[in-house]
Amino acid sequence: MKIVNHILGFPRIGFKRELKFAQEDYWKKKISKSELKKIGFNIRKKNWMIQKKMGLQFLSVGDFSWYDHVLTTSMMLGNIPERFLNNKKIDLDTLFHIARGVSVDRKPTFPSEMTKWFNTNYHYIVPEFSENSSFHFIWKQILDEIDEAKIYNRDIKPIILGPMSYLFLGKSNNEKFDRFDLLPKILPIYKKILQSISKKKISWIQIDEPILALDLSDQLKKKFLYSYQFLKSNLKILLTTYFGSIEHNFDIIDSIPIDGLHIDLIYGNYNLEKIHQKLSSKIVLSLGVINGRNIWKSDLVKYFNLINNFKKYRKKIWIGTSCSLLHVPLDLDQEENLNPIVKNYLSFAVQKCYELFLLSDSLNTNDKSLLESWILPLRSRIYFNKIKNKDIRNKLSNISNKDYQRKSHYDIRYEKQQKKFHLPILPTTTIGSFPQTEELRLLRAKFKKKILHKKLYEEKIFKIIKENIKIQESLDLDVLVHGEPERNDMVEYFAENLDGFVFTDYGWVQSYGSRCVKPPIISHDISYIKSITVSWIKYAQSLTKKPVKGMLTGPVTILLWSFPREDISRKLIAKQIALALREEIFELEKNDINIIQVDEPALREGLPLRNFEKEKYLNWAVNAFKLSVSSVKDTTQIHTHMCYCEFNDIMDAIVNLDADVITIENARSKMEILRFFKNFQYPNSIGPGFYDIHSPNIPTQENFIQLIKKSIKLISSKRLWINPDCGLKTRSWKEVKESLKNLVNATKKVRLLQKY
Ligand code: GLN
Ligand code: ZN
Repeated sequence: MKIVNHILGFPRIGFKRELKFAQEDYWKKKISKSELKKIGFNIRKKNWMIQKKMGLQFLSVGDFSWYDHVLTTSMMLGNIPERFLNNKKIDLDTLFHIARGVSVDRKPTFPSEMTKWFNTNYHYIVPEFSENSSFHFIWKQILDEIDEAKIYNRDIKPIILGPMSYLFLGKSNNEKFDRFDLLPKILPIYKKILQSISKKKISWIQIDEPILALDLSDQLKKKFLYSYQFLKSNLKILLTTYFGSIEHNFDIIDSIPIDGLHIDLIYGNYNLEKIHQKLSSKIVLSLGVINGRNIWKSDLVKYFNLINNFKKYRKKIWIGTSCSLLHVPLDLDQEENLNPIVKNYLSFAVQKCYELFLLSDSLNTNDKSLLESWILPLRSRIYFNKIKNKDIRNKLSNISNKDYQRKSHYDIRYEKQQKKFHLPILPTTTIGSFPQTEELRLLRAKFKKKILHKKLYEEKIFKIIKENIKIQESLDLDVLVHGEPERNDMVEYFAENLDGFVFTDYGWVQSYGSRCVKPPIISHDISYIKSITVSWIKYAQSLTKKPVKGMLTGPVTILLWSFPREDISRKLIAKQIALALREEIFELEKNDINIIQVDEPALREGLPLRNFEKEKYLNWAVNAFKLSVSSVKDTTQIHTHMCYCEFNDIMDAIVNLDADVITIENARSKMEILRFFKNFQYPNSIGPGFYDIHSPNIPTQENFIQLIKKSIKLISSKRLWINPDCGLKTRSWKEVKESLKNLVNATKKVRLLQKY
């Protein structure tokens, strides 16, 4: 029996981020809808050509989306929240309207929420459900794209998100309403979709049910059975799971009528023989052996041996990527400036397709000679001998418990800090970055390309900082920031100034909508070489009497938003980063910077999917943060910032961070977070995010007053900070100035109402 290769999805952003630029141009009305569609079409075309050229058996269809694949699913199912309907037919503008809150020609309204896709840095648009939700198959993107792909003369495997995961990932407007009660309404639509697909002479469909890697209640498991029994048709279903093992949910897998099951062998610990015994021999077992979430070459010989041995037991085997390649950059061949030794160890989306071909071909011909040469660099020692830094390893072994604890209890620090800073009640601040104008981007790009001399570049950055301080003073904010004009990206900037990383030029990965990130690659032990932020912050502080917050990215976020090496634990990498940041914090303190924010927006996304693994992760993650900040004086105020809405389940860890002030994203879920504080007294100070920076909407003074009043009922006004819910770099100056003006003035009005 031939071993088939396939991928679970290909990146959709285009080799040079064409989709991003096209979307943004379309929103600014610089290009027409048909021009935008054409660019989308070209991206799909190129993706399919590459998949064919690299030797994949199936072309993946349905992995392209105009903003996010969960949103595409909502469109496909006709699940459009009322407020976006306006009696008009649904089209691409409806899709953008839901994601952004504004559309090209429609009035602003609040967008659907956005949240992180499992434990990745990809964000999806949260489907909205209510008792009245109705579903219709009107958005037929999937069928159109199947037709498009047909000309490539290859098998086509459409990909859709399954009904159980779709419902799970959404949210109902009413807590008492169980959104799974919608299954009887939603399943007939799914069935209709499958039937329409089957009419296109397709034999396999990939249905993603990643929630199978989570802990599921018995009730949900039953619903799984019910759903898939309902969906039975003549299309063959490959049920795909990823990001972790699904062994704990195997009791239902065998009863679900499917034709194939995909399991993630990279992030799931499986015993293949055991799996084989549990699964009917009639179904295909697809093994996810090529890591869809990291960029290192795969040890193909190891997998050859594993699968070659397994072939004895099982006939129907496929091999695939562990998950969609959405999470890795496109093509290593585009990188001209990477150290060639390191480059030899890497594999991006295109190369991963090729790895699949190599592996399946070697297995089918029973000849692994090509694999041996592919992995030669991995086996050689030239590189790995250099990655250990003895000095760092020594320092790490000398760390003791006291390095993780602030000197005094928060209450004592609070008093000392009050005396030092004399901040008004309900202090106002921002999260760090200010708008990154085209001019500023260009400036940094020129400096990077060495067209602009360092001195001149720094002068210009100083000028921007000066302007930022001036604007904040005139807005009358209380704790100022320098605005982060020197940073392209909050992780890349630190990685560039530490030792132990390498960088790509085009290694972009989609984060949300048109936003992409370019994660650095951790290749060696990480160490501190020189001060990173001090000169900028010191300069900003010299311009004002108000305190300026130093601004750093935390160890967990630097780790999680980089591609980590795989030869040492993530815990150890986080510790190395923490130690380096601690030195930077010392430097800031020495230079009289007394408020320091250490951002950890990624803390929650690192959370393992299974409950029993969570505590262990949170322990080391919290410790890494504490190692970086705890050695400061009592009078130094440590802030941290996190962006996500669902933090209830990690509240204990957040409390353990013991930051003096935490600011959290909140505004988009209409201050839902506040409900939490009805039953929970957060011990330190908190700024629950009053302005949703992800939307171009500008809240009025009255909006802010309402929200602040609401918050004061739940959080002591002595401990409450007033701030936007994230950095402002993606907004325009016009939006920022107006919003902050309203925020500060609203705060002043509420202060007057407060009794001292
Ligand atoms: N300090 C960062 C900024 O303001 C924080 C960004 C983030 O939380 N993602 O841009
Ligand atoms: Zn944020």
